[in-house]
Amino acid sequence: MSGVTDPEIFAFAANLIEKHGGVVENRGEHFLALLPTPLARLLHLPDEVLLGTAELPLIYGSPVLDRLIGLAVGEVPVTCGQIEVPYIKKAGFEQLLGQDIRFTDGLARVMSRAEARTTYMVLVCHYVAMSDERKEGLVRVGVHEASGAVIENLEDLMQEFHPQFFFPGKVPSHFPVHIEKAIGCAMTEARLAVKAELEDFIQSMRRRLHRDVRNTREYYDTLRIEMEEGLSRHNLTETQRREREAKIIELPVEMDRKILDLEQKYSVKVTIRTCAAIRLLVNVAQLILNLKYRKLGRQIKAVWNPLTRGLDPLVCERCGKTIRIICPSAESEGIALLCTGCASSKR
Ligand SMILES: [Zn+2]
Repeated sequence: MSGVTDPEIFAFAANLIEKHGGVVENRGEHFLALLPTPLARLLHLPDEVLLGTAELPLIYGSPVLDRLIGLAVGEVPVTCGQIEVPYIKKAGFEQLLGQDIRFTDGLARVMSRAEARTTYMVLVCHYVAMSDERKEGLVRVGVHEASGAVIENLEDLMQEFHPQFFFPGKVPSHFPVHIEKAIGCAMTEARLAVKAELEDFIQSMRRRLHRDVRNTREYYDTLRIEMEEGLSRHNLTETQRREREAKIIELPVEMDRKILDLEQKYSVKVTIRTCAAIRLLVNVAQLILNLKYRKLGRQIKAVWNPLTRGLDPLVCERCGKTIRIICPSAESEGIALLCTGCASSKR
């Protein structure tokens, strides 16, 4: 595995380190982090360290990322509840294969179905975008805790089913302790959601930048023309003429500096902070699928979710992305389930 970091994870790690008093210097595919001693100790790292390298990769499952996620989770207030569902589907799952989740190759069949309890999480994140203006808001992302698969509209669906919340200290033991993976997936999704919410804001800052840059160029063009015309006046002394010529030569440099300032002014810096998590225990139908691909076979766990009334998506076993179109891939260890991106980059 290489240490090359996903930009979302990169930003998450850098933000978190900065929030805890560290300093981060971008070095392209990795970054240099200067950590205050308590943070360094917490992350089991030296005070000065290169992250995102082959030795210390920032990828899902890497110890450094797990500890960073642990740090992020530790600060979030968590509420736990359960949902009583009136109905759990008993048959007809075969039809959902090809509809809710689809394998691009191979043959998938439902082997067994059992009623089970599983847990979901809604992660609430607050974002602030700073530029010439400020914009802030909340995004909510739902995930299946065991797999990290993103469940769309989970928060709205949850409300429809009127969850009952447990009092602190009365939370049943069904909730998994390690939810780093779920949080990591939810945060990646939250970043995408924030990016979508900020699209208009970013566009508007870009438009203002273009407008101001155009005005600045026009201003300097006019100024240059006026100054050049002034040179032909007869009443100038030789010294005055040389001074003006020097000023004219300086104009483009001055203009570039002004444009650089404008680019700074309209650059958008976004910070995202997790502010709450709601965890839910839900009765589901647990399915075991059997996938045959080439000469290989594999069992896959799938979940029929009574809130969405459909099969939950799966997760790419290479990049962690939530997928409904699954590309089986023959690996030395057996069949791997990949997203279309990972499957095509493999070839
Ligand atoms: Zn993938």
